[in-house]
Amino acid sequence: MSLSRFNALQTVEHRYDAPLEALEGIPTSIASYFGENVFDDASMQQYLPEIVYLSVKASVQSGQKLSRETADEVAVGMKKWAEEKGCTHFAHWFQPLTGKTAEKHDSFFTMTHDGRVIEEFTGSALVQQEPDGSSFPSGGLRSTFEARGYTIWDPSSPAFMMEAADGKTLCIPTIFVTYGGQAQDYKLPLLRSQNLLDKAAVPVCQYFDPAVDKVTATLGWEQEYFLVDEALFNARPDLVMTGRTLLGRPAAKHQQLEDHYFGSIPERVYAFMRDLETECHKLGIPVRTRHNEVAPAQYEVAPIFEEINVAVDHNQLLMDLMERVGRRNKLSVLLHEKPFAGINGSGKHNNWSMGTNTGVNLLSPGKDPGKNLRFLTFFVNTIMAVYKYADILRASIAHAGNDHRLGANEAPPAIISVFIGEAMSKLLNQIANGKKTDGQAVKRALDLLAKLPNLEMDNTDRNRTSPFAFTGNKFEIRAVGSSQNCAGPMTVMNTMMGLQLQEFRSDVDKLIAKGTEQNEAILMVLKNYIRKSKAIVFEGNNYSDEWKEEAEKRGLNNFATTPEALDVLGKKLAQDFFSKAKVMDASELEAYHAVQLHIYCTKLSIEAKALEEIVNSMVMPAVLRYQTELAQNIGALKAIGLDGDADFQKDTLKAVLKNVSAIKEGLAKMHKAFEKAHHADGIREEADILCHKVRPQMDAIREAVDELETVIDDQYWPLVKYRELLLLR
Ligand code: ADP
Ligand code: MG
Repeated sequence: MSLSRFNALQTVEHRYDAPLEALEGIPTSIASYFGENVFDDASMQQYLPEIVYLSVKASVQSGQKLSRETADEVAVGMKKWAEEKGCTHFAHWFQPLTGKTAEKHDSFFTMTHDGRVIEEFTGSALVQQEPDGSSFPSGGLRSTFEARGYTIWDPSSPAFMMEAADGKTLCIPTIFVTYGGQAQDYKLPLLRSQNLLDKAAVPVCQYFDPAVDKVTATLGWEQEYFLVDEALFNARPDLVMTGRTLLGRPAAKHQQLEDHYFGSIPERVYAFMRDLETECHKLGIPVRTRHNEVAPAQYEVAPIFEEINVAVDHNQLLMDLMERVGRRNKLSVLLHEKPFAGINGSGKHNNWSMGTNTGVNLLSPGKDPGKNLRFLTFFVNTIMAVYKYADILRASIAHAGNDHRLGANEAPPAIISVFIGEAMSKLLNQIANGKKTDGQAVKRALDLLAKLPNLEMDNTDRNRTSPFAFTGNKFEIRAVGSSQNCAGPMTVMNTMMGLQLQEFRSDVDKLIAKGTEQNEAILMVLKNYIRKSKAIVFEGNNYSDEWKEEAEKRGLNNFATTPEALDVLGKKLAQDFFSKAKVMDASELEAYHAVQLHIYCTKLSIEAKALEEIVNSMVMPAVLRYQTELAQNIGALKAIGLDGDADFQKDTLKAVLKNVSAIKEGLAKMHKAFEKAHHADGIREEADILCHKVRPQMDAIREAVDELETVIDDQYWPLVKYRELLLLR
């Protein structure tokens, strides 16, 4: 008998002979090829007439539309650049609400009216395309008779060349909208939120420095992932179909010894990382850090931070590259939040801050007390924003995969709170409790801040349990799932900060109008905010049960599952939030909510069906075969009068029978619940049934199967085991 599990294991045995071709010929100096596949600033200067180049720059800076003539000229330059690189096609590259990227390729080749073949790329093709978007989730924004969706060029993110197989394609970052211009993607709301933040933050910056005329949000993501050999991956239908193992008993040795974290990187993985980094660097993605993560076979990659829109595009591009590069290294990249039970899952920490055109990081405290009121302003306003809009932030990271991770022992809970570290806590307390808010008090607070040793600031990172932590010069949002598009939570961050800063400016101006001195007015407002937002700040262990109780007392919500967490999107809080900020109008928000619920239900349905199939067609046949053997063995012993010595066989058989009936029961109940979900009254109810009725049965089935895994003859077990998936190097 040839089980695919053993064939796969044999394939892995021979992997080590494979030459690491990908590593040959990589120049050692990154600078010599960094960004070579990007139509970046330098290429624009080279390929565009100066006046066109300046128009593009000005348009990106101001957000004004480019004229058609200018677009035509950009298209000419871009095509020349792309053709010299060997591109034959161009594609509008966009980020639909599936969370992945999408692209529709068109050839430069076209035919003139008199039948001649020419290569052409016009301004209109650059600016707008009409992919057949009818199969992308629209949440009802596009009815079938009006299924058209449009992709529109985003000049603020540079075009790039994608090399895949033998083909080279010019990729143009675009937004994806309906005929009526409504957002159908992650990028458009993100761009709108960045615009809001800019407009709201500049007037606040001008309290401190009139030279500031642009504020940009910055993002540095940290991407966690697992790697498993491609052959082993293919022998696990659950990984293939759902991205996670629906079954599988944690190996006796997993991460207890903590010997993987920052350990030496296995050769094959190292080759993959080098290969991936090279591809990233060619595309201008400034990845810099790589290391092992806590769980076996888990790794992390992180770049130098960038302007938020470009950083989001780069993360999306990275996830795509990982898959391609993995394939040629015979490794499968798992981006799922919880591919394996019993060990850590994967997150995507989003380090977020704001920078000015004058080169200042607004969340960086300095040694100069005169400058620290600005830092304090942005710092306290961030806390206040999270305090007010925590539920919306929670909704932005809600999805099926993340449900397995949030609140598990290694990941932040579903309760949003802010960690600021001991030093900043003390300082805020002092300000909040100070009696006076005169010039004297301002000076004292700022002096105090200036005296904080760097070390204390850096130590803020020690609490790894918080979902939202101040890490010295930025906030780190740790609850984002590894497979998610960063744009979702980043749109919410920018929006809440934008709205909050508008309110701040108005609160301060009111006091100034009444004759209060500016710095004192600022401090008075901040003091008020610190007092109001106290409930959201938590310095303790977020993993503990005490925190759950404490959070409840403080009135903080704990939405443990996706359907619950998404509910806020249908409420006034979120409707006002997005519409006031002009980030999503009512119909866009409604559509977004519907799509998220739809994706959730679809994912759970696929999991339930996959589980049923694997259990029925793979697990049960193996179990029954072994069951028969045990029964025959006992029968044979009995025939010769020795069944009194068959305790081991009998006990094992009993355990098998017990778990088999648990599986049978679980499958029946799951099936029934699944049918109920199918006939639910609306998508919200369907999500609820899948979440609270189907999922528990999946867990029950898993428990029984995982128990069987420890007793069934290893030679019969059809699924690649955890130790094989995770510990082979
Ligand atoms: P770690 O969190 O692992 O200790 P760092 O603090 O150096 O490492 O940085 C983590 C991430 O934070 C990196 O991706 C980095 O680019 C990002 N980062 C640093 N400064 C900023 C900033 N001002 N804005 C956004 N991200 C930043
Ligand atoms: Mg970090």
